[in-house]
Amino acid sequence: MKAAVLQAIGAPLVIEDVPDPEPGPTELVLQVGACGICGTDLHMSENSDPNVGWRVLPAGCVMGHEFAGEVVEVGRQAGDRWRTGDRVTALPWIGCGHCPLCRAGRGFRCAQAKMRASAELPGAYAEYTRVGAGETIRLPDSVSFREGALVEPLAVGLNAVRRAQLQPGDAVLVVGAGPVGLSVALWCRFFGAQHIVVSDLVAARAERALALGATASVDASQDDVRERVAEAIGGRPRVVFDCVGVPGSLQLAIDYAPHDARIVVVGLCMAGDQLFPTKALVKELEITFAFIYRQQDFATVVHLLGEGRIDAAPMISDRVDLGGFADAFEALKQPNTQIKVMLETD
Ligand SMILES: [Zn+2]
Ligand SMILES: [Zn+2]
Repeated sequence: MKAAVLQAIGAPLVIEDVPDPEPGPTELVLQVGACGICGTDLHMSENSDPNVGWRVLPAGCVMGHEFAGEVVEVGRQAGDRWRTGDRVTALPWIGCGHCPLCRAGRGFRCAQAKMRASAELPGAYAEYTRVGAGETIRLPDSVSFREGALVEPLAVGLNAVRRAQLQPGDAVLVVGAGPVGLSVALWCRFFGAQHIVVSDLVAARAERALALGATASVDASQDDVRERVAEAIGGRPRVVFDCVGVPGSLQLAIDYAPHDARIVVVGLCMAGDQLFPTKALVKELEITFAFIYRQQDFATVVHLLGEGRIDAAPMISDRVDLGGFADAFEALKQPNTQIKVMLETD
């Protein structure tokens, strides 16, 4: 089959023929219907520093962990629940399934977990991919593959907003209007925030957040963010989300936050950073970090998509096939107006 291979850290992806995946006893093979390009993959494809706190990718790996597709092969112990033709999405890891972490839905922390984009578990920037039967969730007929590929970034936003301990009527500021920022905006709306202001250095990206639940957008390249936020809210935000994840973005969130606010850091900053603790201290800010999600969040997101209670389709800004995929991935490393670029292999 064809797959987009990361031959070396920092190098462009190359579309190559690689061996077809074969399912282990408790695994399935999917024909990939859609797979979103994730900012994490962009960061990780360029990171060779083992000190950043998250793993370094091996040369020759295939990334891609936001996907949905059709089951084409079923492992010999997985046939009680799954059939060829089933439409599904799946988690980015395969855990042991038995340990307390796996049972709590946090299989990515399992000592035996295989994470996607590793030698043991290639990702879904490919025609086919292998998934764990226990980590697979069925899609309702009303949920398309491209919506199914949004379940993962939606689960990231759901976990972040849970950690924000939002109250109905709250005012929030979301800094960064990439897929994570838009997903956070969607869940803030869902959980009853009254004012949801989204800022970005690219005005068009911030404006797209309005289609996903934001009540105001700020062009951070032109406007004074604090002034615009105060205008839009008629007061101060109680929660500030850092959905950027570059050196300086956490300090920016601290600067934007009023006293006694909560900051939720969701953006993945894979470099050393410097900040002024006193600026957070004198405001008595509460700073919390959000990473991945629980397995149950996937089921929740799929259920709500299936019932039409959330609509994430405006997150998708572009589509690409495997032929144009390497160029599309490379282009996203530069500043751009795109949000979620979706690989569709059909
Ligand atoms: Zn992702
Ligand atoms: Zn486990």
